[in-house]
Amino acid sequence: MKKYSVIPLLLLLLFSCKTIKKQEVSQNPNILFIMTDDHALAAISAYKGFLSEVAPTPNIDKLANEGMLFNNMLCTNSICGPSRAAILTGKYPHVNGFYKNEGGGDFDETQQTFPKILQNNGYETAVFGKWHLGTAPTGFDYYKVLFNKEGQGSYYDPVFEVTGNRIVEEKGKYSTNVIKEDAINWLKNRKDKSKPFMLMYQFKAPHRPWEPGPGYENYLGDITIPYPATFNDEYNGRKSAKDAWMRIDGHMNRKDVKINPPKGLTEEELIAWNSFGNNDGEFWTPNEKMTEQERKNWKYQRYIKDYLRVVKGVDDAIGAMMAALEKSGLADNTIIIYTSDQGFYLGEHGWFDKRFMYEESLHMPFIIKYPKKIKPGSVANQLALNIDYAPTLLQLAGIPIPKDIQGKSFLPVLENKTKKAFRDAVYYHYYEFPFWHHVQPHYGIRTERYKLIHYYYDMDEWELFDLENDPNELNNIYAEVKNKEVISKLKKRLSELKKEYKMDLSLEEMRKMTDIRIDRRYRVEPAN
Ligand code: CA
Repeated sequence: MKKYSVIPLLLLLLFSCKTIKKQEVSQNPNILFIMTDDHALAAISAYKGFLSEVAPTPNIDKLANEGMLFNNMLCTNSICGPSRAAILTGKYPHVNGFYKNEGGGDFDETQQTFPKILQNNGYETAVFGKWHLGTAPTGFDYYKVLFNKEGQGSYYDPVFEVTGNRIVEEKGKYSTNVIKEDAINWLKNRKDKSKPFMLMYQFKAPHRPWEPGPGYENYLGDITIPYPATFNDEYNGRKSAKDAWMRIDGHMNRKDVKINPPKGLTEEELIAWNSFGNNDGEFWTPNEKMTEQERKNWKYQRYIKDYLRVVKGVDDAIGAMMAALEKSGLADNTIIIYTSDQGFYLGEHGWFDKRFMYEESLHMPFIIKYPKKIKPGSVANQLALNIDYAPTLLQLAGIPIPKDIQGKSFLPVLENKTKKAFRDAVYYHYYEFPFWHHVQPHYGIRTERYKLIHYYYDMDEWELFDLENDPNELNNIYAEVKNKEVISKLKKRLSELKKEYKMDLSLEEMRKMTDIRIDRRYRVEPAN
């Protein structure tokens, strides 16, 4: 064995201790974590999708120009609560316990989360806006989170839960504006400025029912918005896609596209009238003379314009926060993240909503700016997951990553120290059924080139896509004999990932997870 001199090693140790100490005292980065709800990559112009020219997002684009944009940040389960719980804990939804929005109960707030770890390590922490995990936030010095509509909150007249379980009604106000003003005021008025901060700035927008804010109602008014390439998908070879209740033409209700209801309805009748369309077979048309295609196009235009109007409001609120941060003088020592809890269908496959493991809802926008470590205008194509956020942020803050966190830090990608795959494959699992949207529970694996999905609840269907030759996922090639070897390799890796992530359950056990019904806390409003 070769012998090394001890002296250089000692010098190295001394030097590195000194560096760490200096960081602890003065350089712990602040963290500004911005998250929206259901913001698809196609509706962020930095991603250069089919909407980028018609509806630009200059403030989010500016972050991308000054930081790093991830093209393949993926979620582990494409719905609100489970993605948020995965982000907070760095663990898969079946491990942190929050794997369904409907009927899966509340988030166990006593467990370890990255805000708690930051708080325990000297950070001042706060969260504003959408939370949607049932239990009140823990690990925050201050919170003001949406409470009404079972935690979804409303665009207008939103109701919030504030630190200490107080309920505050913001009558006459618009949710994006309330969140913007509160978060900026918190930043300005922090009491102990010697502490680094971690601020979660989380919007309801652009979640359904897509209600534009004051002043945004006429944005894009006369423009015809382009249609995505798969708008008229007929779902050949994809049984589960055909069965889903999320078609723009077949499953959008009247409220979604803001049709004025007739006068004189009782409250119950109004709810029924507005929500008509949700279920398969509940069909309506704004005008009997329209052809099928005209009607579908008309509903899409109504939907997509409101969606983009709501996005525009968020983009402006991000601009306002950036200006406040610049003014505070803290921008250079602040890590800024822009993300959304998952993607969304903006007419692709003829759909709205999310849930499926297909590209548009599997992908999360992810942009990160931190001038000290990240080269401006850089792009990462590596596969990464929402469970990787927590360990990455902890490492950036100089805090050890707890061993039970399932994600891993993508700091080497941020520092551009590796072009190699950060993850060779990722595992995905969706459990909810039949509400909402009648999407069959499924799990699967995605590599850089392939995606294999198994729909298992009350069907037994497999899908294989070659993303290199079929990026729109229209051709299920699972049954083609020539793909046998690829399939067998993917299944082997999938089974390894399931073991690694402690998801080694039988189909019957997984179906039980779907069938469980536990109420959410929001159903019992507190007395005050
Ligand atoms: Ca969401």
